Amino acid sequence: MSKSYSHPYWLDVPALKGQAGQPPDGEICIIGSGLSGVSAAYWLLEKGFEDLILVDDQPEIAATFRNCGHILYGTVESMKALVALHGEEKAQKLWALSIDVCHEVRDTMQRLAIDAEYRQEGYLVMAIDAVEDREIKESIALLHKHGFDSAYVDQKELEKLGFRNVFGARFEPGSAQAHPTKFRNGLLQHCLKRGLKYYSGVSVKSVDEIQGKVRVQTERSEHWYEAAVIAANAYSPLLSRFFAEHHLVEPFRGQIICSEPLDEPIPVSIPHSFDHGYEYALRTADNRLMIGGWRNHTPHGEVGTYDIGVNPEVEQGLKDFVAKHYSFQKPLAWEHSWSGIMAASKTGFPFIGPTDSARIYTVAGYTGHGFSWAHGSAKILADVMNGDPIPPIVAEACNPRS
Ligand SMILES: Cc1cc2nc3c(=O)[nH]c(=O)nc-3n(C[C@H](O)[C@H](O)[C@H](O)COP(=O)(O)OP(=O)(O)OC[C@H]3O[C@@H](n4cnc5c(N)ncnc54)[C@H](O)[C@@H]3O)c2cc1C
Repeated sequence: MSKSYSHPYWLDVPALKGQAGQPPDGEICIIGSGLSGVSAAYWLLEKGFEDLILVDDQPEIAATFRNCGHILYGTVESMKALVALHGEEKAQKLWALSIDVCHEVRDTMQRLAIDAEYRQEGYLVMAIDAVEDREIKESIALLHKHGFDSAYVDQKELEKLGFRNVFGARFEPGSAQAHPTKFRNGLLQHCLKRGLKYYSGVSVKSVDEIQGKVRVQTERSEHWYEAAVIAANAYSPLLSRFFAEHHLVEPFRGQIICSEPLDEPIPVSIPHSFDHGYEYALRTADNRLMIGGWRNHTPHGEVGTYDIGVNPEVEQGLKDFVAKHYSFQKPLAWEHSWSGIMAASKTGFPFIGPTDSARIYTVAGYTGHGFSWAHGSAKILADVMNGDPIPPIVAEACNPRS
């Protein structure tokens, strides 16, 4: 294994960091500089808010730089499962919302001319057993019924592409991929030019409303704001009483390996997944195979940890998975291996809006598809902070508080 072991491929492009020192008091403090926090800053600036202060603890730990670069239509559940959980009408609205948030990412990149290796060429969801294959077919029927594009790809076609031990797949034409660090850095640079103040190395311990102001307490000092946005995703319960008391999110560790650049083609050049999305992969712009997952084969599913070390059992599982399901001429050499902490929410969807304080807001808990949801949900949050009502589908499906 090379020296870059445990270092995410995406951090070969360094994450922009904020200045050192204690942040000033001001109007709105945004805690977390991953995609949620930076997107919240962007959309709040667009709404005309000024005097925004962004803080983070250790920028590099963010899941934003440790993911697989997928920007996916749909949810972590298949359409069939979504209908079973929510009924057809709500499932249709949630699927439509998942598409809107993907388009927000694309549109922002275009509007700000951010070069983040964005490619919108679709997504292949592969079944590795007959039961999943049936579920895929039923999901396609439901998607068609509700006016969404999706197509079945049979086993022979997948074998021609270079996959093995797969049954069939759903092709989703609108999904995309991009370089998450380039997108986050580009968006952040834009916000800094518009006056955002950004401080790194600020470890927030608590966020509370006290006598009509928000107190943000760090290890060394306290700071006062008119409002705050908690954008720390999996880390939110560590600094927010509201998150901890309501058990809004639970952290879990995802893990990824990435090969050296290959001198042979990768079966498909588009993002793809297997086994209900438990394994997910893509081809990087420099022709590497990046693949993550396998946590569902570990005793506790990697749930409840904040340790971003690499689990060797998961790493080996991923390598064996590649050997079983891809037909490569030569064994792959793996150059990067890393993990990151994401957050499962109770609902499977992000929490967007005020907490139990009308001055402390949050956008967090994506349960997987956070690249698009973080950016799109932050736009909804900025609307809400600007006085708009919470959209009904968000209030119903994303924000229950019990
Ligand atoms: C292995 C893996 C693969 C994934 N693959 C995909 C994918 O392909 N597609 C997809 O859509 N999503 C994927 N995700 C999920 C996605 O990356 C996340 O949902 C998304 O990045 C969350 O962004 P965020 O800004 O909310 O949180 P994060 O990016 O985790 O950022 C959290 C921020 O909070 C800050 N913070 C934490 N504690 C404190 C503190 N005490 N004080 C101050 N600041 C603090 C951190 O420094 C950081 O800036 C994946 C995640 C992982 C881990």
